[in-house]
Amino acid sequence: MNACILAVGSEMLTPFRVDTNSLTITERLNAIGYDVRLKAVVADHVDELARVIDGALTWADLIVITGGLGPTEDDITRDAVARVLDAPLAIDERIVDRIKERFAKRGLTMAAINRRQAMVPRGAVVLENANGTAPGLWLERGRTAIVLLPGPPREMTPMFDAVVRERLAPKMAGRGLFRRVLKITGRSESDVDANVQPIYSRWTSQTVPIHTTILAALGQTELHLTAHAPSRADAETVLESAVGELLEVLGSAVYCVDGRPLEAVVGALLSDRGLTIAVAESCTGGLLMSRLTDVAGSSRYVERGVVCYSNRAKTELAGVPESLIAGHGAVSEPVARAMAEGIRQRAGTNVGVGITGIAGPGGGTPEKPVGTVAVAVIVDGEARVRTFQFVGPREMVKYQAAQAAMNMLRLILLKSET
Ligand code: ATP
Ligand code: MG
Repeated sequence: MNACILAVGSEMLTPFRVDTNSLTITERLNAIGYDVRLKAVVADHVDELARVIDGALTWADLIVITGGLGPTEDDITRDAVARVLDAPLAIDERIVDRIKERFAKRGLTMAAINRRQAMVPRGAVVLENANGTAPGLWLERGRTAIVLLPGPPREMTPMFDAVVRERLAPKMAGRGLFRRVLKITGRSESDVDANVQPIYSRWTSQTVPIHTTILAALGQTELHLTAHAPSRADAETVLESAVGELLEVLGSAVYCVDGRPLEAVVGALLSDRGLTIAVAESCTGGLLMSRLTDVAGSSRYVERGVVCYSNRAKTELAGVPESLIAGHGAVSEPVARAMAEGIRQRAGTNVGVGITGIAGPGGGTPEKPVGTVAVAVIVDGEARVRTFQFVGPREMVKYQAAQAAMNMLRLILLKSET
């Protein structure tokens, strides 16, 4: 079943507002087996909207339109739909009463223009809006269902959920698009693809096919597996075995299969083992600590973090000997290690992390170009130090450095388990 989503509103054709409703709607539709084949943002212009709806009627099983149901002149969704379907608009007095009631509850009287919101094209079913004045509408034309919903997400979402539950899901009889996401870090996208392509290419021809997409993001690669299945149970079976095959090849490069960010995965490992952590950051400027503390409950394992940007700070806050900095340079493995050791000792934690690097754009040398970052991770007796060469502007180098430090820690913790 093919769906089309239209977001109505000229504000979303400016650089200041984006259409997010279609993401919510796509997620719900995929879950019951609809393929979204087209989405568009349309200006508050009745002719343009009518034209787009007219086009979608030739192919779509479902058209979901959000926005433009308000009381003002520029709210043109009802008019466009009425015109395309050739269904005259008439005031529904029950809607008028409900809007009046809503206003009365807040001690207000309804303005005359709100009557516009009670205009219903002939044959439409009215969809209750518990959080606003504009009701939604459901219409059918041939094989196509058309759903009109108000623009504000907090009004739209519960109304669409009700439409899915009461009208769309029963038609689909449990069919759905089911997804699994594997998150991988520490390996390049091409490296991952070379490893897994021979595996996932076989899945497209099985009884319940799985489609695989590789998405490269900063500091990580994601494998998205999508199964179009007659039921959730069928999907779970094939996806489970597919994920198993990938884990066999990729091993610990996969840091999660349940959507959590790396900081949450590392946090859970620390928390499960009853370990505490302290970090000394130079080029990341506190980003590692910020990400670690984005996780609820991180106070169980985060003891402290210091940003020691200058050489003096490295000595004062993390106890790095001046002579070490003079001898190896501030961006070096011995200094990263001394930062990790120093902060760990001062904080009395199990884990110490030190990060020092050149985020750029200036400050690079032929031996230590921009993007050079030394990371040290110490967990009780075990120390690991590595030098990375990242690419990209400052913020990207910082992000990748924090990501790499967390991944080094994750790998040490996983190894210490076995
Ligand atoms: P209202 O009665 O509130 O005017 P409406 O159906 O006319 O309802 P719009 O005026 O089109 O809704 O949009 C109201 C607000 O809802 C917009 O300013 C915007 O903040 C939000 N909104 C509208 N469409 C979307 C969308 N597709 N994604 C996210 N937010 C949206
Ligand atoms: Mg409006």
